[in-house]
Amino acid sequence: MRKFMVAGNWKLHGSESMLKNWMADFVTNDQSAKGIDVALCVPFLYVPQLSDSAPRSLIVGAQDVSAHASGAHTGEISAAMLKDVGAQLVLIGHSERRQHHGEDDALVRAKFKQALAQGLMPIICVGESQQQRENNETFAVIERQLAAVIDLLDADNAGQCLLAYEPIWAIGTGLTASAEQAQEVHQFIRSQLASKDVTMARQIRLLYGGSCKGSNAFELFSMPDVDGGLIGGASLAAEDFVAICRQANKLLDKKQSN
Ligand code: PEP
Repeated sequence: MRKFMVAGNWKLHGSESMLKNWMADFVTNDQSAKGIDVALCVPFLYVPQLSDSAPRSLIVGAQDVSAHASGAHTGEISAAMLKDVGAQLVLIGHSERRQHHGEDDALVRAKFKQALAQGLMPIICVGESQQQRENNETFAVIERQLAAVIDLLDADNAGQCLLAYEPIWAIGTGLTASAEQAQEVHQFIRSQLASKDVTMARQIRLLYGGSCKGSNAFELFSMPDVDGGLIGGASLAAEDFVAICRQANKLLDKKQSN
């Protein structure tokens, strides 16, 4: 059975005091030790504070990584630097980076390679826009985004790598993909992966992201190919985030009792 993961993404939010308060609220309700993986991705500056204050069971994440190992790349943060300050996981190819920072599939691939080389857990984000969905291009878009990284995935690194399906029209909009819509795309992703390596496809975790909250997490995570969630807005308050983790644990209990 694949282990559920719930990963928060603070985006461009946070401060030292916010993280301190979040952590105090989180640890009193910590759900992470119970059999699911829980991660939090904060802005680079707060990664050391997160690393110092997180319970051992909380996976320390960053939101981006340089495509380069070192050199003349002003403003960039390398995978080795992230490791150095305690990061264990990194988001790659979030739609906000693809849309607003011109990240293309080649850049996503290069970043993925850097993360792999340093032993970070990459979460590669894929997803279609509203327009692409309306034009029936969802599968073509996902197939193209996957094609940029699929040859780098194998049964040996499938436990370390995750993919997140995040329909752009559902991110931060309050519009959630239905559980069936999410499952349809997750199943497609897993079948694409299986065409390369069946073992890898069975092992790799696929997260859903897009207005996921405590009230819809259980239904979404119940889908056979949904292995947890990537959570934006609802990760900013520990209470909301923990409510989602609780749903993953509830589902785990249900699966284990079957
Ligand atoms: C995200 O940005 O990865 C995300 C899923 O955001 P939200 O939960 O706010 O839709």
